[in-house]
Amino acid sequence: MCDRMRTMKHSLKWRIFLSFFVVIFIVMAIAGIFIVNRIGVSQHRFMRNNASRAADAVIHAMSDEEAAAVAAGTGLPAGALDEWEFGTEYELYILDRELNIMAANGSENADSSLDRSVAEKALEGTVAESEQTLSGNLRVLNYAKPLEADGAVNGVMYVRVDMSDSYKVIDEAKTLYLEAMLIALLISFLLAMIIASSITGPVNRLTEQAQRMADGNFSEVMEVRSRDEIGRLTEMFNKMGIQLDNQIREITNEKSKLETILRYMADGLVAADLDGNIIHINAAATALLNMTDEEAAESGFNGIMNRLGKDDIADGIARTMSSRVISEEVDYDGRHLSVRYARFMTDDEQDIGVIMLIQDVTERHRLESMQRDFVANVSHELRTPITTIKSYTETMLDGGVDEDTRTSFLRVIEDEAERMTHLVTDLLQLSRLDNNSEKLNPVRLDINALLAGCVRKVKLMARAKEQDVVCNFVDDAHIDVMADKERIQQVVLNILTNAIKYTSDGGRIIVDSRIEGDAAIFTVADNGIGISRDDIDRVFERFYRVDKARSRAMGGTGLGLSIAKNIVEAHNGTITIDSVEGVGTKVTVMLPLAGEERAAEESGEAGESDE
Ligand code: ADP
Repeated sequence: MCDRMRTMKHSLKWRIFLSFFVVIFIVMAIAGIFIVNRIGVSQHRFMRNNASRAADAVIHAMSDEEAAAVAAGTGLPAGALDEWEFGTEYELYILDRELNIMAANGSENADSSLDRSVAEKALEGTVAESEQTLSGNLRVLNYAKPLEADGAVNGVMYVRVDMSDSYKVIDEAKTLYLEAMLIALLISFLLAMIIASSITGPVNRLTEQAQRMADGNFSEVMEVRSRDEIGRLTEMFNKMGIQLDNQIREITNEKSKLETILRYMADGLVAADLDGNIIHINAAATALLNMTDEEAAESGFNGIMNRLGKDDIADGIARTMSSRVISEEVDYDGRHLSVRYARFMTDDEQDIGVIMLIQDVTERHRLESMQRDFVANVSHELRTPITTIKSYTETMLDGGVDEDTRTSFLRVIEDEAERMTHLVTDLLQLSRLDNNSEKLNPVRLDINALLAGCVRKVKLMARAKEQDVVCNFVDDAHIDVMADKERIQQVVLNILTNAIKYTSDGGRIIVDSRIEGDAAIFTVADNGIGISRDDIDRVFERFYRVDKARSRAMGGTGLGLSIAKNIVEAHNGTITIDSVEGVGTKVTVMLPLAGEERAAEESGEAGESDE
């Protein structure tokens, strides 16, 4: 209740009401005082004029004998003033120079109650008056005029008027005015309430609207009920609400757009203030730094820097950065990261924080180094045969070479030219596969038939090394795939020749095939030299050869498996290699089975057979 009173005291409505009420009250009070005072003054003037007229009448009517009697102070006959009848409230007195009553039509013994000071002033020749309260609370007006004869004042004409009626009039006026004032105040009270409400009602509605806006609700529009200032304010408020709503919507959209970009961008982003507190860290950054959001928040920017093996701090970076962006590369957690720093500032160029952009450039680095290796490898591979051809040709040109030597030299040159042709063909094929310009011609073919055909082709080569090549699958069990026959044959031949090449004489090579789900799988396993753990992951790299001299001696280019991988992957398949050094190697190829629809579609076409 007390609180309500206090709130009410501070409310605009209360203040408007109070101001209105106080103003009305003050105006009424001043007007009342003024009016009552005017009535008093006019009553007084009226009574004085009457007293003056009565005195004048008596003075004019006085005979010379009466005047002489007054001058002599011998007295006037009794009842000299009796003939004058101005009303019961008028008392007339004629006083001599000693202020003794010569004649009276009031109380003869009024001597003591007469205002002598007024009479004395009249003796001095001026008209004087005064108001006096007699016993019994009787208010009277004393009016005195000099009685003059031959330029001398012989006595005083003294009139005393009872003012009771005048004061009654004044009192009645006061009462009337007070009543009027009370009624006016009552009406003004009601009016003040209505006016205060009419002003504060819309203001309260505006306040409520402002409150809703502060709570983030901009959708409600207020009704404009008038065309006055409040109405215009309401209109402006509505406009402001719509604009704020639009702006906030725009900002929210921008924010969520930015958040989405930050969330899904591949690069890591960390924003921190100058104290090193993390303002924002995106998912890519936490993944690259191998930490959770909580860990990042806890360690702060400086902790992250420590993780990256740096001891710079956010504040330090911002201060020492001459340009707005600096970048460096760091190795972290087996990856190569490119880290860029940018300072962010206020409009007036005051540093407020640092942004760190982290990019995983491991793959780019790998590709760049692969590219460099590739160029070096190609040059190296070509230089060996070219050098051989050059030296043999020079020797022959120098002369003195017999026919047999010449023939053997020419054979070497032919072999080297063959090797170069082989190499260039492989490179061209790889480049076509890389650019997807190697046109595949998929047909429905039986993997088992194709494997059997390839085995037949390498039989001679295997026999030269006294190796056994065994097909472990049932010949007439068809495993159909949709594939480019020539390319898959190339893959199989490469795997088979590798198995023969890297298996010692008398070794054993087993070719197998099976269906697993919707995939055709074939394997070529040998019991050859095998591949070490370190090398196994790299055998699909271009020009990678475990034993370079051995591979070259066997006519290998180091491109066979990478070409095979590209071809298999172009058929949506996979190729893997398992090996134990000194025990043997197993290459597994998976190709998708031909679909049933395809089978039906191509049922009219000739089935695959091996040549
Ligand atoms: P290359 O022309 O040298 O045979 P590949 O790309 O076909 O090139 O093979 C890459 C390397 O992988 C070979 O140099 C060899 O060291 C190794 N390799 C491939 N197949 C086998 C295998 N069956 N046994 C042992 N090593 C193999």
